[in-house]
Amino acid sequence: MSRTPIIAGNWKMFKTGSEAAAFVNEVKQAAANVQGVEAVVCAPFTALPALVEAAKGTSVGVGAQNMHWEESGAYTGEISGPMLVDLGVKYVILGHSERRQYFAETDETVNKKTHAAFKYGLTPIVCVGEKLEEREAGSTKEVCRVQTLAALEGLTAEQAAAVVIAYEPIWAIGTGKSSTAEDANEVIGYIRSVAADKFGGETAAKIRIQYGGSVKPANVREFMSASDIDGALVGGASLEPASYIALVEGARA
Ligand code: PGA
Repeated sequence: MSRTPIIAGNWKMFKTGSEAAAFVNEVKQAAANVQGVEAVVCAPFTALPALVEAAKGTSVGVGAQNMHWEESGAYTGEISGPMLVDLGVKYVILGHSERRQYFAETDETVNKKTHAAFKYGLTPIVCVGEKLEEREAGSTKEVCRVQTLAALEGLTAEQAAAVVIAYEPIWAIGTGKSSTAEDANEVIGYIRSVAADKFGGETAAKIRIQYGGSVKPANVREFMSASDIDGALVGGASLEPASYIALVEGARA
């Protein structure tokens, strides 16, 4: 089963619309030259219109970093799936650990949002991963199992196959301390086996599972050469055009 690797930049709370457009103009040619890798950038909501416009006709996909699960309603400050789709957004990161930690995101809301993503035609990039104390307590796999099953609960096999999962050990995010490729591959293989138990091996073999946490041009190839790792969700190293291009090139199968 060959899975197309996906490199997704997670810009977090960085870049205005004009900065986002300038970024795409710098990377679009190089991104088009890389065959067989899906290149995505996930930007703040306010940058999305300019980013979608700049990315039109290029091979760079555009994603949001969160959304509400309802279509509309009295949810001050929230953004819905149809609003993103109307802009031309195709992907949405769900359940990032920063949202779980600072904005009360739970397994339950991640599940609702995952269903909403499919309802409105967005590809969800669902984040799972353990805290440092959970790793030290030996519960990495259990944490990932619970989060993965909760996120995928109630999906059809067809939907589950289309989910992108990002395995991001929280202690590796923004710290410069990445997991080893071997270790990440083992956890990702385990996450795939959890999906296989629930949806069957054929479905699980289609799910793309990224690694995230201090990925940079210098280590991306190592991660990508591991059998179960299908790309990366990248924060800091996705902000500079040259670094982003190096990541996309490094993900080439
Ligand atoms: P990092 O962030 O690449 O800066 O560690 C990854 C993420 O939070 O998705």
